[in-house]
Amino acid sequence: MMQVLAVAPEVFPLVKTGGLADVVGALPHALAAHDVAVTTLLPGYRGVLAQLAGLPGVSLAWDAGAMFGGPARVLATRIAGLDVFVLDAPHLYDRPGGPYAGPDGVDWADNGLRFGALGAAADAIARGAIPGFSPAVVHAHDWQSGMAIARLHFGAAPRPATVFTVHNLAFQGQFDRGLLGQLGLPERAFSLDGVEHWGQIGFLKAGLALADRITTVSPTYAAEIRTPEAGMGLDGLLRARTRDLRGILNGIDTTIWDPARDPHLAAANPRGRARNKAALQARMGLDPDPGAPLFGVISRLSWQKGLDMLPEALPALLVAGGQLALLGSGDHGLEAAFRAAAAAHPGRIAAVFALDEPIAHLIQGGADAILVPSRFEPCGLTQLCALRYGAIPVVARTGGLADTVIDANVAALEQGQGTGIVFSPTNAPMLEAAILRTISLFHDRPVWKRLQHNAMRGDVSWARPAAAYASLYRDIAA
Ligand code: ADP
Repeated sequence: MMQVLAVAPEVFPLVKTGGLADVVGALPHALAAHDVAVTTLLPGYRGVLAQLAGLPGVSLAWDAGAMFGGPARVLATRIAGLDVFVLDAPHLYDRPGGPYAGPDGVDWADNGLRFGALGAAADAIARGAIPGFSPAVVHAHDWQSGMAIARLHFGAAPRPATVFTVHNLAFQGQFDRGLLGQLGLPERAFSLDGVEHWGQIGFLKAGLALADRITTVSPTYAAEIRTPEAGMGLDGLLRARTRDLRGILNGIDTTIWDPARDPHLAAANPRGRARNKAALQARMGLDPDPGAPLFGVISRLSWQKGLDMLPEALPALLVAGGQLALLGSGDHGLEAAFRAAAAAHPGRIAAVFALDEPIAHLIQGGADAILVPSRFEPCGLTQLCALRYGAIPVVARTGGLADTVIDANVAALEQGQGTGIVFSPTNAPMLEAAILRTISLFHDRPVWKRLQHNAMRGDVSWARPAAAYASLYRDIAA
């Protein structure tokens, strides 16, 4: 068994704000089949420690003493089939609110230290702080884990090999350079080929510059981020590291997302889809109309996700007889826009503003189509779930969406191909046109059935990606 230390700020089902948590929570299960044993280090947020509280078999793995202004220790346990190390440092993590921001939605002012500590703990564990655990590879995820890579790089040899995965280049983690000493980095680390980024310490930049290998979550995104248009200021660095950069598509956890055995559905899909559609309409307060093309949205409400374009396309959707079930949270202005649309069109447009796993499953099981009009999308998980459930994804041609959905254009349909609707460029008129195209395909029942069949036939599991990660680990550990 090869031992790997994963480092991440969120892990499903312990704590989740986005797809990163799904990935970090699912990959270890799939890697076990490749003789890779992953233990994941995450911060001991209040909600995480609460879940550990009742568990038998939580042990003290390492007493770190004082760390960044308070006592810290690492707890080890197995939960939800995952081996985890939890960094318990109350002065950094025991607070109300989310992993990155307080209840008011404002980022914690000390995030540099909070995630610097995560990196420091990862560094120590990677170098043998916990007896019996000596990983061959450290796999760090997103900016919050960037200091693990930096400390391993600038610390003494020997050290494990490192992989850094970027799930979203938009989140970069920039902090004051005065933090350098506190973060345990030498003065020379603050350089162009080190952690320096626009005069500050860049956690994401550090991971990208200093890891032995970089991955991102789809081949198209791996290519896009080397261009000025999508590189968010890091395209130069990424071009320089082209040889070490790879796109590996995400999968989904096919035991959690299993349409044949999903406890949140009214009936097993695909045969139960009509009943699930009725259940979804009832749950959301939509008219119980089996013939209305029902569009679903499950998304963070942010500029990235392109949902600000949807209100403009809604009149056309409604005129064509469609319905919309939206589950989302985030931008308050967008929430207000969808709340107003739902109020103006009761029974036809419905919205729930929350993070709600059961409704997310019901939308996948009951909606006819799932809208994902992202302006950029590193991989995207919603469309993968949609494919598996036979809800037809309607997506913008970008990043992982372009890699995972085959457009049902005339040529594709003639060949019996196509798994969804892909539109480009990403703007409101093209979104509206895509919605209308979807509705006309929906009314052509044999064609629609063929699309559903094609969509459900693909492999969206972790099998292939896990094999790719396992071979990457073995390459660099050798
Ligand atoms: P991102 O990580 O950028 O938010 P992804 O598509 O990679 O986007 O992953 C988002 C994940 O979170 C998906 O599994 C999606 O179903 C889920 N999700 C998004 N919004 C909600 C919500 N309001 N309630 C429940 N699940 C949600």
